[in-house]
Amino acid sequence: MTGVALNQERLLLHYQPVVDIAKGPVAVEALLRLNHSERGLLPPAAFASALDAPRLARRIGCFVLESALTQAETWHRQGLPLRVSVNVSTYHLLDQEFLSDLQMALDAHTDLPASAVEIEITETAPLLDFAKAQKTLLACNRLGVRIALDDFGTGNASLTYLQKLPAQTIKIDQSFVRNILHDPKDHAIVAGVVTSANLLGLLVVAEGVETTEHAALLTQLQCHCLQGYAIARPMAPKLIPGWVTQYNVQSYHGRRSLP
Ligand code: C2E
Ligand code: MG
Ligand code: MG
Ligand code: MG
Repeated sequence: MTGVALNQERLLLHYQPVVDIAKGPVAVEALLRLNHSERGLLPPAAFASALDAPRLARRIGCFVLESALTQAETWHRQGLPLRVSVNVSTYHLLDQEFLSDLQMALDAHTDLPASAVEIEITETAPLLDFAKAQKTLLACNRLGVRIALDDFGTGNASLTYLQKLPAQTIKIDQSFVRNILHDPKDHAIVAGVVTSANLLGLLVVAEGVETTEHAALLTQLQCHCLQGYAIARPMAPKLIPGWVTQYNVQSYHGRRSLP
C-alpha cells in the first residue's frame, strides 16, 4: 500500500453520473475514495494494492456494496430511481463468499430492485479462473443483478468474454474514446464496438467523455450512454439529486442538447 494507511472508517464513495442519450441521467457509478488526514481525498490508484489483496478485497468490497446499495435505496425511496454500478475486484468476485455477500446486501435493501444494481468487472477475474468467474456471473444474473464489462477492449480476450460471459453492458475504455475525434483507427474501433453491442442487444457506455465534441460524435455513432468529465465529475452523494434536477431542467429548456 503506497504509504497510505488503510482504515476502513475513512473509506467513502463518490458517484459519477451516466447519461443515456435518449433518456437523460439513468445511472451512477460508485467510485471509492480514501479520506486521508493530510493528503485529502485519494483516488483508488493511491491504494490500489489494497484492492488486489485477497483478504482486504472482500472487506472493502462488502463496504462498497453495502454503502452503494444503501445510497441507491435512499434515492429510490425519494423517487430518484437511478441504477447503481459497483466495481467488483477480482479477488472479491472469485471469493467463495461473494454471492452470499451480494445476496445479503440485496436482502438488506428491499426497496432497491436487484435490476437497479450492476456490477462492473474487468478482465482480470476471468483470466485467473474463467470457469469460476463465469459461474458466479451467471448466478448474479439469476439474482437479477446486471453485469458490465468494464474497461472493455483493453484486455487480451475481450471478444471471448463478450461471447462467453453473461453481460448486459459494455463500457468502452477511455483509452479508445480519448482520440476518436482525430484518430480514424480509434473512431473505427468505437464504431465497431457500438455496432456489436447493438447486434448483441447490449447497453453500451462510453467512458472518459471529456468534451462536447466527443459527446456529439458518440451520439452520432449511436452509443447509448455517456460517462465522463463533459457530463459530470464524480461527486459526493448529497450533490447527485441536485445535479440530476439541473441536468433535466437544462435539457427541458433546450439549453443543452448534450452534455
Ligand atoms: P473505472 O471503473 O474504469 O472508473 C472510471 C475512472 O475514470 C474513475 O477513476 C473516474 O473518476 C475516471 N473518469 C471518469 N470520467 C473521466 C474523464 O472524462 N476523463 C478521465 N481522464 N477520467 C475519467 P477513479 O475514481 O480514479 O477510479 C479508477 C479505477 O479504480 C476505476 O476505474 C476502478 O477500476 C477502480 N475502482 C474505483 N472504485 C472502486 C471500488 O469501489 N472497488 C474496486 N474494486 N475498484 C474500484
Ligand atoms: Mg468501473
Ligand atoms: Mg472503466
Ligand atoms: Mg478504468
